[in-house]
Amino acid sequence: MVYLKTEEEIELIRESSLLVGKTLAELAKIIEPGVTALQLDEVAESFIRDHGGVPGFKGYNDFPNTLCTSVNEQVVHGIPSDRPLENGDIISVDCGVLKNGFFGDVAYTFEVGEVSAEVKALLETTKECLREAIKAAKVGNRLGDIGYAVQSLAEAEGYGVVRELVGHGLGKNLHEAPEVPNYGRRGNGMKLKEGLVLAIEPMINLGKRHVRQQEDGWTIVTADGLPSAHYEHNVVVRKDEAEVLSTHELIEEVLREKEEVK
Ligand code: MG
Ligand code: MG
Repeated sequence: MVYLKTEEEIELIRESSLLVGKTLAELAKIIEPGVTALQLDEVAESFIRDHGGVPGFKGYNDFPNTLCTSVNEQVVHGIPSDRPLENGDIISVDCGVLKNGFFGDVAYTFEVGEVSAEVKALLETTKECLREAIKAAKVGNRLGDIGYAVQSLAEAEGYGVVRELVGHGLGKNLHEAPEVPNYGRRGNGMKLKEGLVLAIEPMINLGKRHVRQQEDGWTIVTADGLPSAHYEHNVVVRKDEAEVLSTHELIEEVLREKEEVK
């Protein structure tokens, strides 16, 4: 069942999405070599609760933490650990918030210290995939147009597009219909209607597309052990172009400031 949201509901989702963006910006301030994902998790949980929200992932299907933290070859659903981050790592931080009965769900992949040019290029292309996917999320298009936008761009660069995990509808539930694959054919799939709220989240691998799940029952890793990147926005389908409800801008402001004081 696909629920189209009212404008009132969209405002509540926006508020939750923005709180996730602010939470990730707090983490951007402290991500550096030596920090552990568990420390990030504690900061995120306090920040969310201090701002009237509840961690959206903690307890969801028994997930133990506030954040999914996925380092290097980990694609998504990594459980925060006490392993210190190292120079050259990348860490995808995915965070959900429940506030006023509605979820926000946003992810960003951070560089830890100095990462290789090859990995930087992967991050840039994955962000570009997200931008192109959002452009495709407008009335008159279909779900396949979103997937096509991601897949065509990523594969043109020689990257692998993860298929086993997908974006999703978002609202009173963290995961609602429809599923939003990052691959697809133009003009295929469900028609996009005004008021449809989607979490769009390309997961792009430096190497092949294949993934497997680790024995913890959560962490998804690339089968070839090469790094993977992940960015996620929450958008509402509109007539001329999608409206982005979440923001990465606060994160990127922090990252620019950090770069300046180096
Ligand atoms: Mg997410
Ligand atoms: Mg999601």
